[in-house]
Amino acid sequence: MSDIIPITPLLNAAATSADGLGCHAGKDQMLDAAAKAGKSEVLAQYAADYPKGPHDQPQSMCPAFGSLRVGLRMRRTATILSGSACCVYGLTFTSHFYGARRTVGYVPFNSETLVTGKLFEDIREAVYAQADPDKLDAIVIINLCVPTASGVPLQLLPKEINGVRVIGIDVPGFGVPTHAEAKDVLAGAMLHYARQEAMAGPVAAPRQGRSAKPTISLLGEMFPADPMIIAQMIAPMDLAVGTVVPTREWRELYAALDCKAVAAIHPFYTASVREFQAAGRPVVGSAPVGIEGTHDWLGSIGAACGVSQDKIDAARNQTLGAMRGVLASQKINGRITLSGYEGSELLVARLLIECGADLRYVGSACPATPWNQHDAQWLQSKGVHVQFRASLEQDMAAVHEFKPQLAIGTTPVVQAAKELCIPSLYFTNLISARPLMGVAGAGSLIQVVNAAMGNQARFDEMKAFFGSVGQGDEAGVWENVPVMHPDFKKEVRRQFEKKQKKRKAEEMG
Ligand code: SF4
Repeated sequence: MSDIIPITPLLNAAATSADGLGCHAGKDQMLDAAAKAGKSEVLAQYAADYPKGPHDQPQSMCPAFGSLRVGLRMRRTATILSGSACCVYGLTFTSHFYGARRTVGYVPFNSETLVTGKLFEDIREAVYAQADPDKLDAIVIINLCVPTASGVPLQLLPKEINGVRVIGIDVPGFGVPTHAEAKDVLAGAMLHYARQEAMAGPVAAPRQGRSAKPTISLLGEMFPADPMIIAQMIAPMDLAVGTVVPTREWRELYAALDCKAVAAIHPFYTASVREFQAAGRPVVGSAPVGIEGTHDWLGSIGAACGVSQDKIDAARNQTLGAMRGVLASQKINGRITLSGYEGSELLVARLLIECGADLRYVGSACPATPWNQHDAQWLQSKGVHVQFRASLEQDMAAVHEFKPQLAIGTTPVVQAAKELCIPSLYFTNLISARPLMGVAGAGSLIQVVNAAMGNQARFDEMKAFFGSVGQGDEAGVWENVPVMHPDFKKEVRRQFEKKQKKRKAEEMG
């Protein structure tokens, strides 16, 4: 029998100077290379901002997508990637899949330009070529894994060219655990820049002018109706909703900083929170979801802004009455597990419980922070297992353990649940992309969840019809009835184990 295809580790530290390595390569070597290349400080800051857990390597999309998306969604902003061509291909594809409608800039490199430092010169040249103040407010350059590990010094780029701001950030998969947190890397860097500008002198007012009322800045990408719903909720406290961060335009950054308080609706914006706190703005965690969540959140926002108790009560009365009406007339009946990597998982979990769901598990790829602590405690008090930095394995174990009537999760969780004949919903596209706040949030979630759970009969019918056709070794298109070869499998496994042992012995020897 011929040899099986040899699989050997790709990476050594020296090899980080070559193209073609990636998130499949060794994280430790990449970190080591980056530290030696002068990136220790930025990596130490990431390690403090985005503490890791079992899930410390990308198990979802490339983290840099978060920063890229924030840049691409801003008006008058050019976003340029510096990284391996395969990474840039994937990131560009994903951006356009999500409707970027913007050009993704790319400065390519090869081993020679990387090693000789010519790549940095190429980046510099690209930035100068792009810096047209008639078209742009800012240019964002994102170092992906290999240029970060190789120490491409974006911090040496000019801070501004012809009035166009230049923001260089390192967003390696071995330093930033999720694409959610990568949004914070760029949002935080922009807020930092804008705060320095605001301290240095007058800055542009928001397009629509400054709000007459004190404003609350909202941290986190949310469904477009949610800020409007929150605005209605806080109106009785004489507060207005200000800017949503990440912003859609540079001048909105100043308005965001010019708030009375910040609502960290998504809890993982650690670098952004640091900027708001440096600007003296109080930060409030959680969000107005469900009755108890809304009651508590309105109280916290009111307290942070020094609002009188009667106005807080007026705001609560206005919203909570309507919400009680919705929750009394509609319910979710069923056992659910929930997992995702958007950072809003705990909020959805709270709302599910208040809508009547028997929720057993919530897993988030994001970390525990002061801003989701209250939600985690509330969920734990209801008997829910809360898993921060959840891995796919933990999410799957929860599905097997609790045998839910609905599994809400990431793509692989949904796929596995469907194979198990369990109705399931993809968190990112079907749950986090709909309103969550206030009455509208409750009504909308109940509708989509009940509709999905109502599909069980269809799953059973399909299962009965297809049986075990197409599973495991028999998956795919066959022209004849597949013939199993247990001896072949046994031999392959034996050879594989032999090679493993040999490799281990060589490593030790
Ligand atoms: S930039 Fe993203 S896709 Fe490329 S190696 Fe790093 S984590 Fe993987």
